[in-house]
Formats: sequence, C-alpha cells, structure tokens
Amino acid sequence: RLEVNRAAVGYGGRIVLDDVSFSLQPGQIGCLLGPSGSGKTTLLRAIAGFEPLARGAILAEGAALSRPGAHLPPEQRRIGMVFQDHALLPHLTARENVRLGLFRSPAPQAHDRATQMLALVGLADEADRYPHQLSGGQQQRIALARALAPEPRMLLFDEPFASLDPELRDRLARDVRAALKRTGTTALLVTHSQSEAFAMADVIGLVGDGRLQQWGDVSTLYDSPASRFVAGFVGEGT
Ligand code: ATP
Repeated sequence: RLEVNRAAVGYGGRIVLDDVSFSLQPGQIGCLLGPSGSGKTTLLRAIAGFEPLARGAILAEGAALSRPGAHLPPEQRRIGMVFQDHALLPHLTARENVRLGLFRSPAPQAHDRATQMLALVGLADEADRYPHQLSGGQQQRIALARALAPEPRMLLFDEPFASLDPELRDRLARDVRAALKRTGTTALLVTHSQSEAFAMADVIGLVGDGRLQQWGDVSTLYDSPASRFVAGFVGEGT
C-alpha cells in the first residue's frame, strides 16, 4: 500500500504541488491527470525517490520512504519506472533487454524469467528480435516486461504512450492494464490524456493549480466533480 500524506514537492524552495494526500491499495492502478506543468512528473519523481519532500510523507506498507530529513534512496525503494522514451538498448535483443532488469538474478533464472515476462506482455515470439525490428508499441511492452521482471512493489509510468499514435495508445493502455492486473502490480501513471487515464486506471487524481484537486474513481469524478476544473477535465475527452 502506497500512502502520500500531505506532501509538498518542488525545486529549491519553490513548491510546485502542495498538500497532496492519496493512497493506493495493493494491485490498484492510479492515474495523475492534469495540464502540462502542473507538477505530475515532479510528484512521480518524489515517489521514486529522485526528489526530496519539502513537507509531508510518502509511505509504503506503513514505512516512510520520504519525509523531510529522512529519504530512502531510489535503488532501495523497489519502485520501477517506465518512461515515454523506453530506453531499450539497441544492440540487445528483447529478451536481453528484459534481463537488464534482473541483473541480481543468476543467469538461468534470469533467462527463464525474461521469457516468462515477454509472454506476459504478448511478445513470446519476439524474444530474439532487436528493438529496431519491433514497433513502438512492442518496444514499450518490452520496457514494461523489463520493469515488471524484478517484481517491484510498484511501477510508475510517466506518459508511457505519448509518442504513439492515439489508436495504438488506447489499445496499449488496455494491454498494460491487463498485464498489471495479472501480476497484481500496484501502479501510478502520469498523463494528460483523459482517454488514456480512463482506459488504464481504477482511481484518478486531478492535478491543477498547485494541488491535487480530487482523487476518486472514474464514476465519482463524473458524478460529483469537486470543482469546475475537475468537471472540465473529465468531460474534455482528449
Ligand atoms: P508535463 O505534463 O508537461 O510533463 P507536469 O505536470 O509533469 O508537466 P512537471 O514536469 O512536474 O509538470 O513540472 C512542474 C513545474 O516544475 C513546472 O513549472 C516546471 O517548469 C518545474 N520543473 C520541472 N522540473 C524542474 C527542475 N528540474 N528544476 C526546476 N524546476 C523544474
């Protein structure tokens, strides 16, 4: 269970997002939705451990990952990240790229686990192909397999489908959701696409004006938006 408790994040004393509180249950998929520059990525980076908190706390299973004065380094958080730029290594095959996520495992186990992860994302037949022989969507699924391989406690996604065309994006969002649900992985996604958020998430957080404006499931956001900002964003259909 991830808990963000009255957190303030920013850079060098300038707070970008203040008083953010929400929690994610194990296996739940959350999405932060909001306009460009609203601080979604900054919050994600704070959860991953790349930015300290100015106030408040981030906890996992009740233990503090971040609070002012105490900061667990990113590599000890067991939190994986998937970016828009999936950063596959071009000279390694799909399976070898997935094995990069398993550098701590002995070779035979890593090989089998990588094969299993590729099957999970529907790419069992592409294991020996190189990234340039695969589509953008397939490459992003390999990045997902790599991130899932070491069994992280949660995965963070920063605009993972932004570089793909819209039709592929929504289909991939549903595939990624299915893979996360099959593995029971808790996840938090950042996007400014409403349709992507709705395709992926169980719960959505609307970020704007330096605050988390509302955190709730899709029907709550529709039926009882906390503000005009939320109503506008939910109804927008980008
Ligand atoms: P986008 O959807 O465009 O990615 P975002 O909601 O993720 O936007 P952030 O990238 O978190 O927004 O940026 C929030 C604010 O923090 C912006 O005003 C940005 O200029 C500022 N910012 C981002 N990164 C840094 C940094 N490394 N140093 C200082 N300020 C930064």
